[in-house]
Amino acid sequence: MVCLLCKQPGRLLHAQVPDYLLSGREAWDIHYCANDKLAWIDDSKSVTNLAAYYDSYHAHQAHDSVSTVSFSALKARYFFNYPAWPEPKASVKILDFGCGGAQLLKQLQAVGFDVYGVEFDEELVRSLASTLGVDKIYSVDKLGLLPENSFDAIVLNHVVEHLTDPLSILMSLQRLLRPGGVIMLATPNLEAWGRMLFAGRWRGWELPRHRYLFSDSALVKLLSMAGYKTDKVMFSSRLARGMFVSGFMPAWERLTVKPRWRYLLHLGGYIFAILARLLAYVGLAGKQEELIVFAHK
Ligand SMILES: [Zn+2]
Repeated sequence: MVCLLCKQPGRLLHAQVPDYLLSGREAWDIHYCANDKLAWIDDSKSVTNLAAYYDSYHAHQAHDSVSTVSFSALKARYFFNYPAWPEPKASVKILDFGCGGAQLLKQLQAVGFDVYGVEFDEELVRSLASTLGVDKIYSVDKLGLLPENSFDAIVLNHVVEHLTDPLSILMSLQRLLRPGGVIMLATPNLEAWGRMLFAGRWRGWELPRHRYLFSDSALVKLLSMAGYKTDKVMFSSRLARGMFVSGFMPAWERLTVKPRWRYLLHLGGYIFAILARLLAYVGLAGKQEELIVFAHK
């Protein structure tokens, strides 16, 4: 499988990396393009029954009761106070692509946006449509039914890394975005300290659910290929503590580890996150664990 961005063959970065987060079953090779700083898992080894790898996935639990938060809190937490993010009004349409259990979608609705969601998990689509309305929630194969130039903003909150064909999905979404409308993507940062520290055990790999891992330049290039203009690239350490702990301790070990080791790991995670933030002030912002890009049509 060649690089999505330059069509050249990549090199093998890590051989046989297992699903550290959830199952520990099976393993995948990770490939890397040094030109584009893009990593991916090989499609030639088919991921049989991908749904099984999402069985106990945190983002796929339906959120029945969602805590109400103010728009300023949502804007700070999810949109990093990006000044061009639209203010909540009933006339402002937002699409949450890969909405999962719809926690963010419901919070955006509660502050006054007109919200729509697209989700891959058919079971979730059915249950969300029954509570939010069939005109609000769509399965991914119905993406083409949504009207062109109709959304003011589109969110992909830790979704782009899960897509088997991110270019064609981003092109479909570009059609739905109104001219000047904003798209926001958050994803693990391939250039992060954590990847250097943990190598094949980095939390960001999360195989086989994550198919592509992006550097900032790779994501900007992908967005450009899909017809967007990037406005802002940002990095964050808000997930650094959890990523540090997961790097040392796969899910099945977490159940048996002694409490004092658990406390020490969490302490290490705090120090890791604080160090990453401090280093961001001396020109190393791009090494933080999360990459966030804002672009427009
Ligand atoms: Zn490439």
